[in-house]
Amino acid sequence: MTHDLLQAPALARLGAPFVVPVAATPLPDARLLAGNDALAGALGWPASWQETMLGVLSGNAEPSWGAPLASRYGGHQFGVWAGQLGDGRALLIGEAGLGGARVELQLKGSGKTPFSRMGDGRAVLRSSVREYLGCEAMHALGIPTTRALSLVVSSEPVWREREERAAVLCRSADTFLRFGHFELLYHKGEHAALTTLVDYAVEQHFPACQGAPLPALALFAEAARRSAELAARWQSVGFCHGVLNTDNMSLTGRTLDYGPFGFLDATRLNHVCNHSDSSGRYAYARQSDIVLWNLYCFASSLLPLASEEALREVLLAWPALYETAFLARMREKLGLVAAQDGDDALVGDLFVWMDRLGADFTLTFRALCGYDASLDAAAQFEAAGFVPDAGVRAWLSRYAQRLAGEARPAEERRAAMRRANPRLVLRNHLAEQAIRAAEAGDASVLERLARALSRPFDDDAEFDDLAALPPAWAASLQLSCSS
Ligand code: AMP
Ligand code: MG
Ligand code: MG
Repeated sequence: MTHDLLQAPALARLGAPFVVPVAATPLPDARLLAGNDALAGALGWPASWQETMLGVLSGNAEPSWGAPLASRYGGHQFGVWAGQLGDGRALLIGEAGLGGARVELQLKGSGKTPFSRMGDGRAVLRSSVREYLGCEAMHALGIPTTRALSLVVSSEPVWREREERAAVLCRSADTFLRFGHFELLYHKGEHAALTTLVDYAVEQHFPACQGAPLPALALFAEAARRSAELAARWQSVGFCHGVLNTDNMSLTGRTLDYGPFGFLDATRLNHVCNHSDSSGRYAYARQSDIVLWNLYCFASSLLPLASEEALREVLLAWPALYETAFLARMREKLGLVAAQDGDDALVGDLFVWMDRLGADFTLTFRALCGYDASLDAAAQFEAAGFVPDAGVRAWLSRYAQRLAGEARPAEERRAAMRRANPRLVLRNHLAEQAIRAAEAGDASVLERLARALSRPFDDDAEFDDLAALPPAWAASLQLSCSS
């Protein structure tokens, strides 16, 4: 019964050297801390899934189709080729149907694999809670992402900077293929395997590229397009990924591998959410440049299968693709329907003053949804944590003028803006509160937060406390790669 909910994944067909079967390491006292009934329902699973699947979702039982799989990949980490990495603590446990498509299900933290290097194969409760909440928050914001199905906790001690508890997250995605899967084959000179992987990826995930003269080039162009859209959406909600190494770049343009990520509280364009990123390589304002840098790495690995000139053309066109996607998101956020010359400057100047004043990213945009030029500006932005100065007031009157030229009725525009500007994002201090409770065995804070984050655009009074400015202690929270 249990095992019938999972089917053998298509990736299993590839076999070595792409994937190797690995048994999960048993997890003592496995207990489900959080289960995503909405996702399980979408997979067509019966209500009893939380009981029947606990064994497989904790790594204590093997799926009936066979042993889980770890895959081999490499990557550029912090700008340097790191060689072979691979699923050091993740295992593919199978596939399930999702609305006519199929998704892969992967455990994270399920024990050592041949790719664990010096690691223990485990994930701690702290980072697993962050990933669970982070990806579901992104999904509700309409941003492509892996999703979280379950979070299993255990009494097993794991050593990081302190002793913590092991947890196993189960996450889903159309595929967990990364740029790094292709890079590794190129760097090892395994060009026949590279062709096999490109053919597989095109057939399974990019069917529209199948008829292209050079499927590898078409695949790259589509991955590049999706990554431009993704990076634009990240910027539009103040999301910082934190570790944009090429092994964390999803082939299909999803947010992948939630580590020391963060949403901006006060707007700081040079904000670095990862304490381990001492040079600020992955700062908020640098994300699109870094995604492009990562695409250069990916393009290089496809050189045996497509001409350098054609790959370069895609790369050279990327900044304009990103700018277009970013401006489209920003117009949506500002309630502007028709594109006009000068919109990029209007948006650019908005970010400059938000950064200068440290205006709360989320609440400033939310306040703009209701902005009324005939009323006092100071009162309208109080909730966003800043006092409008002369520069802000000048920008606001430019914005009011720009709005005056829009045909859409103001009320309609405001309603549309409230659907484009979330009131709720996963602020670090909210995640921290859920973590502290979870570590004490209480899942209720996490549950409530997950429920609130699933409706980020709503004005529920029930969640007013979660939509407020962060408390002072939030500023001292530090996140690192340790997870
Ligand atoms: P990350 O920085 O989390 O994206 O991980 C980079 C690489 O390190 C990936 O290949 C992971 O699978 C691996 N890794 C991270 N943490 C562990 C761990 N605790 N045990 C084994 N491998 C790990
Ligand atoms: Mg990773
Ligand atoms: Mg990680």
